[in-house]
Amino acid sequence: MIFTPHGKHLIAGDWVASAETFRSQPAQGTAHDFSSGTVDQVNAACEAAEDAFWTFGYSTRAERATFLDAIAEEIEARADAITAIGSSETGLPEARLQGERGRTVGQLRLFASHIRDGAYLDRRHDAALPDRQPLPRPDLRLMQRPIGPVVVFGASNFPLAFSVAGGDTASAFAAGCPVVVRGHAAHPGTGEIAAEAIHAAVKRCGLHPGTFSFIQGGGNAVGAALVQHPLVKAVGFTGSLGGGRALFDLCAARPEPIPFFGELGSVNPMFLLPEAVKGRGVDIGKGWAGSLAMGAGQFCTNPGIAVILEDQAEAVSEAAREALSGVGTQVMLTDGIAAAYQAGTQRYGEAPGVREILTSTCDRRNAAPFLYLVSGRDWIGNHVLSEEVFGPLGLIVTAADADDMLAIARSFAGQLTATLHMDAGDAELARRLLPILERKAGRVLANAFPTGVEVCDSMVHGGPYPASTNFGATSVGTMAIRRFLRPVCYQGIPEAILPEDLR
Ligand code: NAP
Repeated sequence: MIFTPHGKHLIAGDWVASAETFRSQPAQGTAHDFSSGTVDQVNAACEAAEDAFWTFGYSTRAERATFLDAIAEEIEARADAITAIGSSETGLPEARLQGERGRTVGQLRLFASHIRDGAYLDRRHDAALPDRQPLPRPDLRLMQRPIGPVVVFGASNFPLAFSVAGGDTASAFAAGCPVVVRGHAAHPGTGEIAAEAIHAAVKRCGLHPGTFSFIQGGGNAVGAALVQHPLVKAVGFTGSLGGGRALFDLCAARPEPIPFFGELGSVNPMFLLPEAVKGRGVDIGKGWAGSLAMGAGQFCTNPGIAVILEDQAEAVSEAAREALSGVGTQVMLTDGIAAAYQAGTQRYGEAPGVREILTSTCDRRNAAPFLYLVSGRDWIGNHVLSEEVFGPLGLIVTAADADDMLAIARSFAGQLTATLHMDAGDAELARRLLPILERKAGRVLANAFPTGVEVCDSMVHGGPYPASTNFGATSVGTMAIRRFLRPVCYQGIPEAILPEDLR
């Protein structure tokens, strides 16, 4: 099915154009023109979102669950068109787009069942104690309430699951918050068709048109206006450390600061413990290569660093090198991301003490794997080598002994994930590493690779800065809804006027 984008924004239920346009840069296929957002359009979308909050924010859980299910159905109804334009714009294979669509509708339906269940409201009740001495206790009830309009920045690397109808939008809708999405310029047509699906669901469910707006382009001025708009109460973001930090600082500097839930960079270290390496080091090296190169390494959970004892490094690095050398070049999401990857490989390659295990030639929008090795001593002394290079770049960090491995673990900044590859004989070292790793990462894994993030109740996709700007939150899994809720205590409020969920 061919989908030809019209290139307009969706502001409070109307598709509107702007005077200025930008042209998409698809990896293959036809480029299209898209309207560039303006600050006036941001204002209109945010004001409509606030208007919508007075109904959507007070809708029943059943109504919102029906809305989430309707979005999932509308996305499925556009399945082939989404796959075709998504693959053309991003260069990701069709199978990946199909899988990501499944994940996207799956998480919409998961949030629908999560709010139907109602446990997320965290309802508490301390009944009145009128005879308590020396003072009586009033009746106290607590419940989570939606916070108001939310801005979501679509991510470049997940055109569906972390974009217009992705997890941030789904969790904000589930909470009862209207959403204004800033689409990512890497996939504007995919964004537009996802916005059409949400728009259709808004109409089907008879919701206020300001419940959802969608703006594309317009550069940093539009992003800045969105996060600074006084009616916006929180922001969800996935992207670069630099962009995320700039937007976080704007949120903090507002007259009324608001939370900025940014999911930023991570190198996702893996610790290869000695007994596991003795038994299956070659398999771990090959598995690492597969995880590192998947999707041209454009995953926030890409395992960029492997820490290993220096006398065991040779076999693992050779297995990884051999597997990676067969990968070849893959097209990246944008020219800018490809250029950033090429600069990153150069930065790593020029760092003191770094040995090249595998180098490649990348041109234009292509990436091929790189593999480097450095001693723990040289790694700890050089910050550059712990900064995320988005793409299929791996670094082996060698430790002189177990204590050195612990020192390396302590030197990491905040991470989305940290992994232990271990066998039963590694338990003692693993026990010493675990308390360090759980301070560093939102998710600690054993004997697996961190790419492939399960969408479920127990998932944490977040972590200490710079993995995310808010370590108490996750952007994947049902707990993501908490970002868009706040607790309200109702003291002595008569039953008849309490919110229905508290009666
Ligand atoms: P990005 O540059 O951070 O952009 C993400 C979004 O934020 C875009 O909509 C962008 O708008 C906006 N933005 C960025 N800086 C801004 C500012 N100062 N003021 C207002 N708005 C701003 O991320 P990207 O384009 O997705 O990719 C660039 C790099 O980000 C990659 O090379 C990679 O290193 C990293 N990245 C990391 C992850 C991860 O999960 N760890 C995921 C994706 C990307 P414009 O399009 O108008 O600039």
